[in-house]
Amino acid sequence: MKIVFASNNKNKIVEIKHQLPEDIELLSLEDIGCHEDIPETADTIEGNAILKADYVTQNYGFDCFADDTGLEVNALNGAPGVYSARYAGEQKNAGDNMHRLLLELGNNPDRSARFKTVIALNLKGHQHLFTGTVEGAITYEKAGEKGFGYDPLFKPEGLDVTFAEMTLDEKSQMSHRGRAVKQLIEFLRSEFQQ
Ligand code: IMP
Repeated sequence: MKIVFASNNKNKIVEIKHQLPEDIELLSLEDIGCHEDIPETADTIEGNAILKADYVTQNYGFDCFADDTGLEVNALNGAPGVYSARYAGEQKNAGDNMHRLLLELGNNPDRSARFKTVIALNLKGHQHLFTGTVEGAITYEKAGEKGFGYDPLFKPEGLDVTFAEMTLDEKSQMSHRGRAVKQLIEFLRSEFQQ
């Protein structure tokens, strides 16, 4: 059974491959010869995950899953949300994005926020959605060197370190993406045990 992960992110692909049942062969976009930029024009995180998965299934005929993630900050009415990657512009620069986020929040005492990942899976003609979230708070300044994106500004609830101060393993145990991937893997395992 072949299934495509609609991503070019090698780290994500390796991580997920590692956890899949043996009878599933995971293919990347490169493996199926898909080199075009898949449109991510929806105005919700769910919508973008669905767009990407549907693009591959409709144009290449494969079962497929795709993920999309955003950071939702309550005091900013859920921004940057679906626009997290390009919050400070099309250069999609993490430093610029964090700078804008700190400016927008200023000294607002409500720092509450969550990361949300949605995975859309097209399997045997049906679509399934898996959502993983992690609640936390935006710090007043950056801390830590690890991770990527907004990690230096995000402290998960109950901890006094940012994602950028945690190892990848520690982060994956509690992260939005880790939680969504766990649901996907459990679902695929149950489907393929029958
Ligand atoms: P993507 O949908 O996984 O490409 O994520 C979109 C954007 O959200 C990224 O460009 C990052 O700015 C941000 N983001 C996603 N996941 C994380 C994370 O685990 N930590 C910090 N930022 C993230």
